[in-house]
Amino acid sequence: MAKPGPSRKAKPDPSRKAKPDPTRKSKPAPTRAKPAPAALDEYRRKRDFTKTAEPAGGTATLASTLRFVVQKHAARALHFDVRLELDGVMKSWAVPKGPSLDPAVKRLAMQVEDHPIEYNTFEGTIPHGEYGGGTVMLWDRGMYGADPATAEGASDDVALRRGYERGDLKVVLDGERLHGSWVFVRTRFGPGGSSDKPSWLMIKHRDAFAKPGSDIAAEYMTSVESGRTMEQIASAGDNVWNSDKPAKPGSRPARK
Ligand code: MN
Repeated sequence: MAKPGPSRKAKPDPSRKAKPDPTRKSKPAPTRAKPAPAALDEYRRKRDFTKTAEPAGGTATLASTLRFVVQKHAARALHFDVRLELDGVMKSWAVPKGPSLDPAVKRLAMQVEDHPIEYNTFEGTIPHGEYGGGTVMLWDRGMYGADPATAEGASDDVALRRGYERGDLKVVLDGERLHGSWVFVRTRFGPGGSSDKPSWLMIKHRDAFAKPGSDIAAEYMTSVESGRTMEQIASAGDNVWNSDKPAKPGSRPARK
């Protein structure tokens, strides 16, 4: 008979097993400011969470590295939503034509309300008639930080907050599709058109990842999460919501 091990680890409950996070270290979780209580007010006011599977926010585990996500969104008009984590929320822009790797191309980026960090895993359908109703695809995701060339030695948070407030936000993206240095330039404050938020331009800097003449938005037509096209997501009719929230009956199984 084998002797009982001297130090047996407690068995985790397999039903609660979380997806392994390769970036996680066995250290106390780093502290990062939670979103200010009012930060998501506008986001929540616009949505009826009894009708949409979008997250209400406020439950995300805050990571040591800042995240970004790009979602392709077929709402009234097709657009891409570019979201950058800052101060516990996702700063968000609607980019009608999507990102471009051509440094000569300046893409209009209309700022929208801050979104919860939990939004980063949302792919599926926002019910028709609800705010932003339509199909949402996870088009790119990854980590990002302040462009070290302009951070002047400041920490990511400090440099990003400063750039954001100045309206000259220089970032380095490390996603599955988008890489390298980019700038968001605020061109005017709202109100303008139907928005009370500023307009910005999203521009690729000249670096090793720049591709003049390319059209990456047209090049990649599938989800980085599920491999599905917009049509496949729409016809699946699921509110895929890959988070701590249990899957709804009939939704597809947990991701890879
Ligand atoms: Mn949108």
